Amino acid sequence: MDALLDKETAFAEEPLIFEKGSTGRTAVELPETWNDETQLKKSLPSSMIRNAFEGFPEISQVELVRHFTRLSQWNYGLDTGFYPLGSCTMKYNPKVHEDIVKLEGFSFIHPLQPEELAQGALQILYELERYLAAITGMDRVTLQPAAGAHGELTGMTIIRAFFTDRGEKRTKVLIPDTAHGTNPASVSMCGFTPVPIKSGKGGWLEATAVDAVMDENTAAIMITNPNTLGIFEKEISRIAGIVHKRGGLVYIDGANLNALMGIVRFGDIGCDVLHMNLHKTFSTPHGGGGPGAGPVAVKDTLASFLPVPVIEKKGDGFSLDYDLKKSIGRVKSFYGNFLVCVRAYAYIRTLGPTGLKRVSQTAVVNANYLRKRLEKYFFLPYKTPCMHECVFTDREQQKYGVSTLDIAKRLIDYGFHPPTIYFPLVVHGALMVEPTETESRVTLDRFIDTMIAIANEAEKSPDILHNAPQRVKITRVDEVQAARKPVLRWKDVKKGS
Ligand SMILES: *Cc1c(COP(=O)(O)O)cnc(C)c1O
Repeated sequence: MDALLDKETAFAEEPLIFEKGSTGRTAVELPETWNDETQLKKSLPSSMIRNAFEGFPEISQVELVRHFTRLSQWNYGLDTGFYPLGSCTMKYNPKVHEDIVKLEGFSFIHPLQPEELAQGALQILYELERYLAAITGMDRVTLQPAAGAHGELTGMTIIRAFFTDRGEKRTKVLIPDTAHGTNPASVSMCGFTPVPIKSGKGGWLEATAVDAVMDENTAAIMITNPNTLGIFEKEISRIAGIVHKRGGLVYIDGANLNALMGIVRFGDIGCDVLHMNLHKTFSTPHGGGGPGAGPVAVKDTLASFLPVPVIEKKGDGFSLDYDLKKSIGRVKSFYGNFLVCVRAYAYIRTLGPTGLKRVSQTAVVNANYLRKRLEKYFFLPYKTPCMHECVFTDREQQKYGVSTLDIAKRLIDYGFHPPTIYFPLVVHGALMVEPTETESRVTLDRFIDTMIAIANEAEKSPDILHNAPQRVKITRVDEVQAARKPVLRWKDVKKGS
């Protein structure tokens, strides 16, 4: 009975596709001629023709469709619920973007199409560059990097080329302890030595700390702003002054620009190089590591080092310039992730300057609303008002033996994606919550009520949290084992539990 009850309901198991179907079953019937081996050999090189098909799934179309539809329904995404994953800006992305990128002129354009036949695409890229320059107060922008970390690598390579060109051997880059984890990695990959600096008690970097370490051997400072505590680096102008005075450059990691559009322009307060994440702030779906874009903006002094090609406007036309003498070269095939740029362009054109400013204002208000309403229940290591995200810890819940991981897992039972946990590293047991501007008051209140309910459970019945999640197909897993030795077959999952 139970087996039957489970078979087709929400609790149904789903075998691997390899375990389904039976010999001879197919999803589509091909014309006879397609199965004709001599015909096949005429049209395909022999190296591309498989001889053995052993172990391939043989399954009907309806089984196939149900298999993947079911799996998709078990997934958690922005289209199913609140996704407060700090630092990732999991905002809702308007569906009209998907309609726009499907237009034939965008989706069918070929990267080798001659410039004369790609004027519309080049115009969009050119104008997007101008918009991003205006939003950040910078002069030129490359759209080519495919992600934030790729933007960092590109920006640091530009900084290295700048000093090499001047015949200066600077080896160090200063990085505050609240920077994103990718920052020191990018710096090292570029051959610089990252030098960590401690931020102050309020959660921001103090100019005096920079003054103490900045020297003629230091190429740059790399600052995530707002930092990973969700706090604005308010001494940035003074810090930039100190760094510039000793010949260094200022790199801003602007992946969290969602907090600042129309409010702060880093180009106006001392920034030389900055990257943005189009897939965060400028609205491209990016769960599961899909395509992104991490454009890098620079001041005119660094423009001649940008990767090629750069897009130029001559008269009414647009062209690609490959002839930048000091360019660091190519960082990506063709012109970057074009359709991510099209989505960003559509987003900016739809909202306009006042709309973008409201995005950031709302993102900041939402985060502070959560912060204020939850501070009685969860410990806030920094009391400073936050920007787009806030960081709590499990200090109060530790009294009952409940950890950040338990809280995160319990949120799954209540239907929420957990926030980012145990990051930033400067906060012990961090719970980093980024609500974004696209969530309604109703959703925020439901999340807050849930967090309060979990705080009560931690006190009264901590075992519920230790065993969470329960209202899911796969309950608490051993995280290390799950990463090293994943169990993928349903029947093995059942055996293990
Ligand atoms: C997300 C993020 C990055 C990395 O961006 P990816 O696109 O994931 O490579 C870098 N810095 C900050 C501050 C971020 O939030």
